Amino acid sequence: MILIFYEGDDKDASANFWAWWDRNPGGYFLNCRGAKGPMLHRRGCRHFSKAEYLHDIAKRKKVCSSDQRELEERARSRGEELHKCRDCL
Ligand SMILES: [Zn+2]
Repeated sequence: MILIFYEGDDKDASANFWAWWDRNPGGYFLNCRGAKGPMLHRRGCRHFSKAEYLHDIAKRKKVCSSDQRELEERARSRGEELHKCRDCL
């Protein structure tokens, strides 16, 4: 199941993203970066620090799932160029 957290749609999106992070140690997410295309990360990636981004992690849309392939398929179906984080995948 895909969950989307984005400040533009929900002012509580950052808090909700971190709640997802805490509950889904085996999860994956796309960090949506506009024209550059989404970057796929594993939950726990060191690029995402709760201390640093507590209130604004969802400024960029986060598309989350427990299933890596579901996120890859979503990017493909939308014609987006998917990148994979070299540090966590
Ligand atoms: Zn990563």
